[in-house]
Amino acid sequence: MSKYDYLVVGAGLFGSVFAHEAALKGKRVKVIEKRDHIAGNIYTKKIDGIQVHQYGAHIFHTSDKQIWDYVNQFAEFNRYTNSPVANYKGSMYNLPFNMNTFSELWGVRTPAEAQAKIQAQKDSVHLSGQPKNLEEQAISLIGTDIYEKLIKGYTEKQWGQKATDLPAFIIRRLPVRYTYDNNYFNDTYQGIPIGGYTQIVEKMLDHPEIDVQTGVDFFANKDEYLANYPRVIFTGMIDQYFNYQLGELEYRSLRFESEELDIDNYQGNAVINYTDAETPYTRIIEHKHFEFGKGDEGKTIITREYPADWKRGDEPYYPVNNSHNNSLYKKYAKLAKMEDNVMFGGRLGQYRYYDMHQVIHAALTLVQSEFASNVGKG
Ligand code: FAD
Ligand code: UDP
Repeated sequence: MSKYDYLVVGAGLFGSVFAHEAALKGKRVKVIEKRDHIAGNIYTKKIDGIQVHQYGAHIFHTSDKQIWDYVNQFAEFNRYTNSPVANYKGSMYNLPFNMNTFSELWGVRTPAEAQAKIQAQKDSVHLSGQPKNLEEQAISLIGTDIYEKLIKGYTEKQWGQKATDLPAFIIRRLPVRYTYDNNYFNDTYQGIPIGGYTQIVEKMLDHPEIDVQTGVDFFANKDEYLANYPRVIFTGMIDQYFNYQLGELEYRSLRFESEELDIDNYQGNAVINYTDAETPYTRIIEHKHFEFGKGDEGKTIITREYPADWKRGDEPYYPVNNSHNNSLYKKYAKLAKMEDNVMFGGRLGQYRYYDMHQVIHAALTLVQSEFASNVGKG
């Protein structure tokens, strides 16, 4: 048996919150991470004085004051409000779908005019009952025009599937409002940590009871780890843990292509979405705008995000939570329950389209149940 109470597999947000809280309770924790750095997909790195979001734009948002206070222990947040702009075949539209968008598209000026326009489009399609898929959900929320220009192309390239085959909940992530408000989120609290996200995880893991090893894959020595550690928190792919014995869950991957440019300002906004079907990437991020232009003079860094099919060995950025995958996941979750000393967490371990605040909430919930049910152990 090792000298540790816990093995945490994955130094992403879930694993790091758990490791931090366990260490505060006096537990000895070993964290292994297969990448060569900590922080998982929230990893940021300073290049040319700019905090570069290495795995895509990350904006923290929550309405839960406890979660907001929790994360603020580890960094000071700026007042960044996410307001992406859509580029559809060269025309620019504000996001999310709000009075600015409606006015740009149709020249309408009032909420009543916008509502009448959208209602007429909905009536022309004759939808009945609950929306059965993303296309029906989008049209029932926002009409055909916005669906065709700002949703269909983006969604189908992002997910590699027809919008009629995708679950409705994905499009309900985006607000629809009849006010001139370009805030992408409805949450009470929002911001970006000044100085990037990596520091948050660094501080979580900076504890004498925590040892971190990067560049180590759990599957290289799975049996040994399970034999030697009393309790394991696993934040990798749940189907991989069980050697895909019930079949593969589906994931969506991404390819990030970054460019350093010798100009101050490339696109005037942190995020521009390319919503047509033909442009092969979904969005371009210009990182310096997350910190209001902070960075070396005359330099900027942009990243194009290309959606990609997932196959074994690729990074599984998104679970594809359609009904087929969700029911397969449930079967894996049953197997997981039977693993006495292994707990599964995070976007991959719980196969959920979790945002950061939800990951923190899930990790703190596990901490609570673990230390309530496990009093005296370890
Ligand atoms: P991860 O960050 O994936 O961490 C899991 C870690 O485990 C990884 O580091 C992985 O390398 C490691 N690992 C896996 N298998 C093994 C193994 N076998 N051995 C050792 N280590 C292993 N959320 C927001 O709130 N706001 C946003 O704006 C936002 N934007 C996003 C944009 C993109 C493009 C993506 C992909 C996600 C975004 N998210 C956003 C979601 C956010 O990234 C996640 O909620 C969060 O990072 C998940 O944390 P996690 O610990 O569950 O997973
Ligand atoms: N979406 C869209 N057009 C956009 C932005 C988003 O159709 O310009 C849809 C798309 O299906 C996407 C979903 O809304 O997958 C959720 O968007 P979000 O920005 O939350 O995606 P994430 O940042 O998680 O990739």
